[in-house]
Amino acid sequence: MDKENGQTDETCAGVERLAEADLPTEYGLFRIIGFKSKDTDEEFVVLVKGELDQETPGLVRIHSQCLTGDVFHSIKCDCGPQLDFAMRLIEEEGRGAIIYQPQEGRGIGIINKIRAYALQDAGLDTVEANLSLGFEADLRRYECCAEIIRQLGLRRVRIMSNNPDKIAALQAAGIEVMERVPIEVVPNERALEYMKTKKEKFGHLLEKLNLKEKTARSCGGVLAPSKGKSPCRG
Ligand SMILES: [Zn+2]
Repeated sequence: MDKENGQTDETCAGVERLAEADLPTEYGLFRIIGFKSKDTDEEFVVLVKGELDQETPGLVRIHSQCLTGDVFHSIKCDCGPQLDFAMRLIEEEGRGAIIYQPQEGRGIGIINKIRAYALQDAGLDTVEANLSLGFEADLRRYECCAEIIRQLGLRRVRIMSNNPDKIAALQAAGIEVMERVPIEVVPNERALEYMKTKKEKFGHLLEKLNLKEKTARSCGGVLAPSKGKSPCRG
């Protein structure tokens, strides 16, 4: 109830590590680990590469599930290319983790997301559509992701994100964010409006992207991060 001193209504009652296996992918070999929230039915899937420990900051991506973008290659958003980028960069560095969190459509679920898409077809932007359906602009929570990061053995992370809310939530949950690794992709015509909304209404840190000119340093559909090696360089 009390939001002072970093306390919020929403906390994570804990997560259980329930299953794991090897997962060979186009980008390389990962471990796939299944976690489940202790107080909800939420299931989290984590891809891990290399050995993680408390001292060395680990490259981490918290990726919110986007069925349309991740699976169906929708060009309404930049989620699919962001996930590819994260997998390629972690494979190249040889160490890191991707937490795939089951919060489709910023937490409103796939059916409501399709309803929101219908409203967007009628001219609303992504925030206006969610609000008009009676939802907050963004319902996502990150406390359980922080708990998963701890269970993976990490305390310090280099977070791959453009979302300041995500970074603040991890810090509030006791994770040390040592660096933000930008994850910017080249938008196509359709995703441009969506990304513009993310920048203007959610304050996303899309620095390299010139939303007016729609051109950017491109490499196979993704932008190279400002630090570290590009997954497609050379
Ligand atoms: Zn998406």
